Amino acid sequence: MKSERAFFLDRDGVLVEDVDLLTDASQIRVLPGVVEALQAIHEHGYLSVVITNQTVIARGLIDETELGRLHDHLREQLVQSGAPHVSAFYVCPHHPHADVARYRVECTCRKPSPGLLERASDEMGIDLAMSFMIGDRLSDVAAGQRAGCTTALIESGAHRAPPIVGMSSEPPTPDHRFADLREAVHTLLRGQR
Ligand SMILES: [Mg+2]
Ligand SMILES: [Zn+2]
Repeated sequence: MKSERAFFLDRDGVLVEDVDLLTDASQIRVLPGVVEALQAIHEHGYLSVVITNQTVIARGLIDETELGRLHDHLREQLVQSGAPHVSAFYVCPHHPHADVARYRVECTCRKPSPGLLERASDEMGIDLAMSFMIGDRLSDVAAGQRAGCTTALIESGAHRAPPIVGMSSEPPTPDHRFADLREAVHTLLRGQR
């Protein structure tokens, strides 16, 4: 019985500024409204689960331990700003053309595949149909739809980027579109009352 509900959140362009290749803690810039959004998620009894493709690992720029430290740094920065703890981070380190051989696989966890959401659902008892996926690329929307979540696209600029490999020919249509995470969370939570 999966009774938890979650907001699945893309990292780059949704929680933090998208700097293309984030490999150092000094590059972390939490976006405006994120702390309030996380507070609202927590107050309404939802989990907050970050779902992120990290090609920096596939490319060998940093390893999984270093990425874990970056995420610890981000967690700490959020908590110091008054946000509740992020419930979990789920990372896909793979890429079909990875420089690092052991990550060079056609995996089922790289968005637009829904593998990370499904793993989080199994490990954390999350009801996917009662949950949301919020991202700023159509690959986020596709992953959320395939997992059975309600989807929202943040119009950060990246949402106009061409779909990444693995997308079906037909681009997915998000259930909602918002300017930023704060607007997304407040509007979606209002709809749940
Ligand atoms: Mg993004
Ligand atoms: Zn993967």
